[in-house]
Amino acid sequence: TVKIGVLNVQGAVSEHAIHVSKVGAEPVLVKHADDLTGLHGLILPGGESTTIGKLIRKYGLFEPIIEASQQGLPIFGTCAGMILLAKRIEGSEEPHLALMDVLVNRNSFGRQRDSFEADIFVEGMNQDPFPAVFIRAPHVVKAGQGVQILATLDDRIVAVRENHLLATAFHPELTDDLRMHQYFKQMAESYQAK
Ligand code: GLN
Repeated sequence: TVKIGVLNVQGAVSEHAIHVSKVGAEPVLVKHADDLTGLHGLILPGGESTTIGKLIRKYGLFEPIIEASQQGLPIFGTCAGMILLAKRIEGSEEPHLALMDVLVNRNSFGRQRDSFEADIFVEGMNQDPFPAVFIRAPHVVKAGQGVQILATLDDRIVAVRENHLLATAFHPELTDDLRMHQYFKQMAESYQAK
């Protein structure tokens, strides 16, 4: 079976784990470096990126996650997870894991739209719109050359892929649509096959 870790320090952890099971992979909660052993993929959930950034350092996960990424482990960041992956954060904030060649803006959809749902088209999926839930969501302001843009909303980039890294500004774990998790499971399967 394909084993997909869900970073378990803060945020929407159980929802991701349930989606991972529903697509037929085995979810593994990740709180310590040992938990990364034998994984074929890792999900960084939404929550609060500053808090999660501090906790991954506190639990000794910061370096091990970077090393796992260097070995090609597929990583999927949602919302705060997208901010954790970004190499650059607008407003000269220090980046966290700094793995993905994107510049992100935090909380970019404005107060009056603190949270909302929108139907978006995601590249590489069938034509049915994806019900995307945005909660104080970031967006990608600039994507590097190797970054594939998978979805936009009102001209803002909200889903990206760079090789083994996947990120969405929205929360695919909060709706019944399993296609983002299926997509990531396929990335995990190709890693497992190597
Ligand atoms: N805006 C939040 C942050 O900066 C992310 C919000 C979310 O993950 N729902 O961390």
